[in-house]
Amino acid sequence: MERNKGKTSKGIILVLILLTISLSILLYFTYNEYLEYNNILKDNKELNSKINILNKEYTKELDIKKELEYNENTLNNIEEEIIKLKEEVFSLASKLEDKITNSESNYKIAYLTFDDGPYLSTDEVLDILDKYKVKATFFTIGLDKDICYDNNNYSCAETYKKEVDLGHTIANHTYTHAIFRGLYNSTTSFISDVKRQETLIEERTGVKTNIVRFPGGSSTARGLKESIINELRNLGYGWADWTANDGDGGYLPNTTVAWNNFTNSINENIEVVLFHDYSNITISILPKAIEYLQDNNYILLPLFYNSIKVNK
Ligand SMILES: [Zn+2]
Repeated sequence: MERNKGKTSKGIILVLILLTISLSILLYFTYNEYLEYNNILKDNKELNSKINILNKEYTKELDIKKELEYNENTLNNIEEEIIKLKEEVFSLASKLEDKITNSESNYKIAYLTFDDGPYLSTDEVLDILDKYKVKATFFTIGLDKDICYDNNNYSCAETYKKEVDLGHTIANHTYTHAIFRGLYNSTTSFISDVKRQETLIEERTGVKTNIVRFPGGSSTARGLKESIINELRNLGYGWADWTANDGDGGYLPNTTVAWNNFTNSINENIEVVLFHDYSNITISILPKAIEYLQDNNYILLPLFYNSIKVNK
């Protein structure tokens, strides 16, 4: 009896010791994970506030540039400063993309893109973006843009430069956008249309484009897709499709449908949002759409060549 009692208490002590050891190990690992998690949170916060500060500085420099249009020397310095800041923003954005991809960030990124312009209505898009201090990407075409499609009494020739001066990314959507009239006849026809638009943008803005969007999306190229991508790569181009949209490329009966399409399509941590700058419905929901994304922890940025959303 006594002996059994002794055995039982020894057993209990052993179990208690083992339990204490396991608990200590568990506590040790949990604490370490907690520390690591805290570090990641801190990193993310720092990264985000850096991007915000740089974006603000970038906007400020652009404003100063506008004021100093006639002073060439100062203007040259400012141009360099702007390029430097832009590169810094893009390199931080690249780091944030990595963190988001590795589930190490609470932040998300949305790249707003506007296709087929410039139109007269592009000015309204630019005003809204400016009001929210948001930079976006314009996939422009070239066909007869000296006359605005949506109002023949106006010229849209200056709009390319305006997009660049306001700090947005200007990108290449081919010169003719002629999906059913020859663009996709061959790799050569597609590439020469891209080069034609590249020349037009360079002449009007001084910027050499390095991002293409296939009119109709890359799947429209069908059997030519791989060969076109190879050629684009040789020319230093990346290309981008989209992951979200409000349906403004097709028939949209009203803003409610557009809004529902838009919010239903936002579900990835890094979104490329397709809009068209000719769409009055998109323009009317744009302020709310920007607020919706920001409220859902999205940082809104312009596309850049090294982004993981730009295929190479
Ligand atoms: Zn298009």
